[in-house]
Amino acid sequence: MREDFSRKMPDLLCQVAGGEAADNEALQIVRKLRKKEFVLPEIDSDHIVSLFESNSNLFWAERLGREHLDGMNDLWVKHCGISHTGSFKDLGMTVLVSQVNRLRRALLSRPIAGDGCASTGDTSAVLSAYYAAAGIPAIVFLPADRISLQQLIQPIANGATVLSLDTDFDGCMRLIWEVTAELPIYLANSLNSLRLEGQKTAAIEILQQFHWQVPDWVIVPGGNLGNIYAFYKGFEMCRVLGLVDRVPRLVYAQAANANPLYRYYKFKSGWTDFQPQVAETTFASAIQIGDPVSVDRAVVALKATDGIVEEAT
Ligand SMILES: *Cc1c(COP(=O)(O)O)cnc(C)c1O
Repeated sequence: MREDFSRKMPDLLCQVAGGEAADNEALQIVRKLRKKEFVLPEIDSDHIVSLFESNSNLFWAERLGREHLDGMNDLWVKHCGISHTGSFKDLGMTVLVSQVNRLRRALLSRPIAGDGCASTGDTSAVLSAYYAAAGIPAIVFLPADRISLQQLIQPIANGATVLSLDTDFDGCMRLIWEVTAELPIYLANSLNSLRLEGQKTAAIEILQQFHWQVPDWVIVPGGNLGNIYAFYKGFEMCRVLGLVDRVPRLVYAQAANANPLYRYYKFKSGWTDFQPQVAETTFASAIQIGDPVSVDRAVVALKATDGIVEEAT
């Protein structure tokens, strides 16, 4: 088992800030840390709910770059989907479920009965897997007939309460808002900052895997727009801590049939009048979202990294 540096973090970070970069011993330690210390340093190890996520492959997509992207010879794919649930949301969910697990053991005036989310498939898959592991009830709101079978199987097999609703994702999102406002159910969608805190560790992993060389560009698929902000947070945190000296430029990739951020970006309005849309069917069903909850956060990430938005068919 690796050493737990949580309690030493404040000291270590001071040493990093005050030291001579490359041969700084504290810097070498901090560069090897992964999650807990950067995200929830105070949590008791017994409360952590983990399915051994993280450390997914980063591989060189040489042929894809050379043959399909104009001879680009330095294209890498971070395969966050290599995880227990096959979604790339495990890094965020371990943090959220661990914290809920911790809160359920505390004396709260309004105890948490369970956790809920609206989903295009992946969030419900990952939520139900982690809550099953923690033994906490989960409820998921899904748009009927718009979820892939691989993703639908998971909440059912993991014993979550699954509601299939005759609406789209955005309709499910509005309903879960109302339900969690009324009932002691914790809202697990990615506007919950615990999820974003966990997802930001994907950016830390990328830097670790590149031995702290910063890539020029990082492309992230975009639906509800939480992930781009989480990636930005991870990269920016490493810059502020002095672990790297710049952040990559971020590219947000949307499906052409569900592209509200692309339109917002393209018809330069000075980022003032965001127009939600009714998302049309796209093969990329996980990002078929027309009214993303984290649009403002995504704009922060784009501005801060000189990022761009693209659409694909
Ligand atoms: C969640 C998800 C996205 C979109 O992430 P957002 O944070 O909602 O923008 C894209 N692709 C897959 C496979 C996902 O699971």
